[in-house]
This record gives sequence, C-alpha cells and structure tokens, in this order.
Amino acid sequence: MDFTFNEQEEAFRKEVEDFINNELPADWVEKNTYWPAGYGTLAQFEELSPQVEQFTRRLAEKGWLAISWPKEYGGAGLSHTEQAIFHERMSYYRAPAGEVATLIGGPTVMLFGSEEMKKEWLPKIARGEIRFWLAYSEPNAGSDLSSIQTRAIEDGDDLIINGQKIWGTAAHVSHYAWMAVRTDPMAPPHKGISLVIVDNTSPGVTIRPLMNICGFHSFNEVFFDNVRVPKRNVIGEMNKGWYYLMVALDFERLVIPIGSFRRTFEEIVQYARETKHNGQVLSRQLLIRNKLVNIAIQIEIAYMFFWRTAWMLDRGLVPNIEASLLKLFTTELSQKLANTGMQVMGHYGQLESTSKWSSLQGRVCLGYLDCISALVGAGTSEIQRNIIAMRGLGLPPK
Ligand SMILES: Cc1cc2nc3c(=O)[nH]c(=O)nc-3n(C[C@H](O)[C@H](O)[C@H](O)COP(=O)(O)OP(=O)(O)OC[C@H]3O[C@@H](n4cnc5c(N)ncnc54)[C@H](O)[C@@H]3O)c2cc1C
Repeated sequence: MDFTFNEQEEAFRKEVEDFINNELPADWVEKNTYWPAGYGTLAQFEELSPQVEQFTRRLAEKGWLAISWPKEYGGAGLSHTEQAIFHERMSYYRAPAGEVATLIGGPTVMLFGSEEMKKEWLPKIARGEIRFWLAYSEPNAGSDLSSIQTRAIEDGDDLIINGQKIWGTAAHVSHYAWMAVRTDPMAPPHKGISLVIVDNTSPGVTIRPLMNICGFHSFNEVFFDNVRVPKRNVIGEMNKGWYYLMVALDFERLVIPIGSFRRTFEEIVQYARETKHNGQVLSRQLLIRNKLVNIAIQIEIAYMFFWRTAWMLDRGLVPNIEASLLKLFTTELSQKLANTGMQVMGHYGQLESTSKWSSLQGRVCLGYLDCISALVGAGTSEIQRNIIAMRGLGLPPK
C-alpha cells in the first residue's frame, strides 16, 4: 500500500496550486462563504459570475474542465487521481471547478452515448460553453425516482415532453436539462424511463425560482408544455435510462468538495486559537479541543474515502457503494462541522456577515442552515444507508 503521490502527481499538484494563485482573485477564498457540500451557498458562484466565467475560461483553455477525458473529446487525458488532486486543491480555495455537464453528464455520455453523441456534446462541455442542470425530481417523485410521471411521446424524429420537474439546482443559469422522462408507461417503472438532453430555450419550457433557506435563488420548478426535442438527444438506448441514471447518480455522489472541509475546519481552529472566552483562549478549553479533534479525525477518514474512489476509477472500477459511502459520510460531516463551528463561536456564530461582530464572514451562520441541503440532495442519507445495506452488506430490501 502506497499513500504517496508519484513525481508526476506532485508536479501536477504544484501546477494547480500555482494556477489558483495566479488566476483566482486574491480575496476570493475569504469573501466566498461556500459551506462544504452545501447546495444553498453554491448559488453565490452565479452571483460572482463575471469572475467565475473568466476563471472557467482559463480552466477550459488548460483542458482542466475535463481532466480525465481523452484528448480527442477535449479533455486533458490525465488520470482520475490527477483529477482528484485537482478537485481537492480547487475546493480548498473554494474555487468553481465544474458543474453538472462536466462532472455528471459528460462522464455518463462517455460511457453510454453513441460516438456521434460524444463528438457532438463532449468537446462543447470540455470548453465550458454549456452548462447542464439535473431534471430528475418531480413533486411526487424524489427518493422513489422510478415513479416519475413526466411523459415523452415519440413523434417522428422527435420526442414531445409534458410534465413538471422540481428542485432543479441552477436551472436558471444553465443551458440544458439533463432529464429523466417516462417513454414507456406500460413497462414496469424502472424499464420505461429514458435520459435525454433538453434545450432550456425550447418553446414550452418555463422556469420559476425557488428561494432556499440561505436566502439565495439556487433551485427552481420547471414546467414542460409540449416541448419538442430531437431523439438524437436521448442517451444510449430508449427505455434504458434507469440504468444510466444510477451510474449518473454515482458520479454525482462522488462530487465532494473535499478540500473545503479542510479549509473551513482550519478557519474554525484559527478562530479558537485567537479568541478568548473568560480570559482564556478557546483552544485551551478541553471541551473545545475534544470537539475539534473529533472533526479532524473525520476529515482524515473522508480524505481516505475520497482518494480510494479515484484509485478505483483509475483501475476501471465504477465506485457504487463507495460513492454512497463517501456522500453519506461527508454530508453528515458537513453538519457536524457546522455544529462544532457554532459551539466554538457561541453567539458570534449566529451573526450574519453584515454584523460588525461577525467572524469568518458569517460563514458558520450560513453553513448551519445550508448543511441540511447536502443530506437531502443527490439522495437522502436514509437512501444512501439503504444502498449500503443492500449492495454493501447484502441485506434484503425492506
Ligand atoms: C438542496 C437540494 C438540491 C437539489 N437539487 C436537485 C436537482 O438539481 N435536481 C433534481 O432533480 N433534484 C434535486 N433535489 C431533490 C432531491 O433529489 C430530493 O429532494 C431527494 O431525492 C428526496 O426526495 P423528496 O424531497 O421527494 O423526499 P421524499 O422522497 O419524499 O423523502 C421524504 C423523507 O422520507 C425518507 N425516505 C423516503 N424513502 C425512503 C426509503 N425507501 N427508506 C428510508 N427512508 C425513506 C427520505 O429519506 C426523507 O427523509 C435537490 C434537493 C435539495 C435539498
């Protein structure tokens, strides 16, 4: 067992670090209040969009939006471990480094799309020209995704879509829906679903905002009224979408901003070192020290899970139980980190960034609200436990 990076990986890590120092605005990491694994605070990346666009363009020029994709599809042709190194460093600096198209849609098209589809979509994604949003959930289909009702009927070379999606994160700032639709209502639920890419600007698409707990516009409800989509936008085979969807969900669960956990934790530790309570710095108090150490241990464990999934991908294995494990462990850690931050800071943790008494830009206050989102998005903690129980432990379904 070797826990070290090789020479090439070390050199790449340094290249990424230098790139961040040169390209990311100096005050970015301080100003950005992104909470590890939170969806709510992610929305501020859109509010800072000119800077994000400029940074994304520079990433695309280097092929770093698609690090592990083959060069013929616009990728950098590097390993999954290098991709993981990249994401660890980017997330440590809270830098925007990819979204649904690059991290979920693209990798799924790479596995199941036709050659024609790969040539049409992958280079555009790798150049950062298009963004996807995930159109899975419906008002009556969340954990039980196989009960989706949004219907797509074949009409010549097209599909015509009718229905409603909900909780579409960033749909309002994306170009295409990465969408699950019911194409065979007579088949068993899992066997009548297809995955299709739908242009947001198609006639009949209506996007309405939903404000999240942090006060940002992050998710949306989206209505599809006789929306026409070319059948060539269907991923792989019609009615096999459930299988592709499960793999796409594994990719989604692997998108963990691991470095942001370390970064935020370091900031809380620094606060404990510098702040006095009853004449004594917090870092000398036993209760505080114990809480910080517990989090430190869990961050180390999260890193182990994270590197392991990269190691698996480099060996051609698709992490499945491991994806659920990583997602479950880190999102629950996000909540523990918020609780610990709040306990260390006491009342000051509850202050928004606008207060003159606030610290860490009100990050803990926002994070305390935002951490709940991570436990639900991409499949709730209960669903991850079900997956691990059945596929990992071989227990029977409930
Ligand atoms: C911040 C955020 C962003 C999101 N972004 C998107 C997005 O971009 N696109 C998208 O399509 N969806 C998105 N979602 C929706 C998300 O995928 C669903 O909310 C999630 O799958 C749960 O579905 P539900 O809300 O319908 O809850 P339900 O499925 O109704 O679940 C309610 C409760 O019952 C529990 N439960 C349900 N079934 C079981 C079971 N079999 N065993 C044990 N417990 C169970 C759940 O764990 C939960 O606690 C997002 C959600 C959040 C919170």
